[in-house]
Amino acid sequence: MTISDKSFRYNTAGHWFKGNTHIHSIASDGEMSIPEIAELYSTAQYDFIFCTDHWVSSDVAKTWNPPLLLLDGIELDGRDNTGAFFHVVCLGKTNGITQEEGFESAMQKAREQNAILVLAHPHWSGNSLEDANRWDFDGVELYNHVCRWLNGKSDGLTHWDAMLKKNPDTLGFSVDDAHLKPGHPGWNGGWIIVNASELSKEAIFSAIKHGNFYSSCGPEFKSITFDSKFLHIESTPVQFIRLVGPAYCGWRVGSFDGQLLTQASVEIPMDWTHIYIELEDKEGKRAWSNTLFVTDQINAVDRHSAALHAGS
Ligand SMILES: [Zn+2]
Ligand SMILES: [Zn+2]
Repeated sequence: MTISDKSFRYNTAGHWFKGNTHIHSIASDGEMSIPEIAELYSTAQYDFIFCTDHWVSSDVAKTWNPPLLLLDGIELDGRDNTGAFFHVVCLGKTNGITQEEGFESAMQKAREQNAILVLAHPHWSGNSLEDANRWDFDGVELYNHVCRWLNGKSDGLTHWDAMLKKNPDTLGFSVDDAHLKPGHPGWNGGWIIVNASELSKEAIFSAIKHGNFYSSCGPEFKSITFDSKFLHIESTPVQFIRLVGPAYCGWRVGSFDGQLLTQASVEIPMDWTHIYIELEDKEGKRAWSNTLFVTDQINAVDRHSAALHAGS
């Protein structure tokens, strides 16, 4: 299926909200409490964060008067039946998940409770491209800030490329994986910016599920629009704006010695199977849209209403 059979994913008419989808607290191996983490992230203009402790289904409703929107999550890890080792971040409220039941069963339970399943730091975990495609993950981490510090294996772009070949709707996330302790320093290095009508649990979760967000380590998109032929992009000043397609397919503006750019318009190549946008600023920091055109928008909406109905 090519882009000509799909619908445009982005609606940037709402507000942009900054968030992080991978953070650890004292509930597992982090060193700050959730209220302390919320205070810290609010100083860097975050609007929401997910709590994703190892094998702990968070319950943010218990946190009194946080300065930003707190959202529930959990991080699972373990080996699947082929022996491959995974870490998987599940976004959304879950119950009844225990480490004793094993990795595959836990992942199944999270899925049944309508969590968004994100393959975490695949390079660091040592995942093959086949591993990345084995469990129909909803998304993958494109950048993991703590893994950059740990051993430089922060990059999920090659895994994303393989996943997009199988499912062009696969979401891409830039994350901190913050632990906030001397043994795991670093935060506010990778984040997502969601476009939603309001800052509420339902609106943010729905926008993430539909991929109405982008990931960044620095540059910002100001708008992403499509007029049935041309894509129009506005951004903070960057050195390069690229369209990225399957394999060698690509288009770009910018140069190594040129002026910085804040906008681009390009005719969409309708015969590509998928396209995302990559921004790169003069420091080499990058931002990535999700794929611009999706196959199952209607199904995605239906799945989400089912999730809301189930009181997720
Ligand atoms: Zn992990
Ligand atoms: Zn983690």
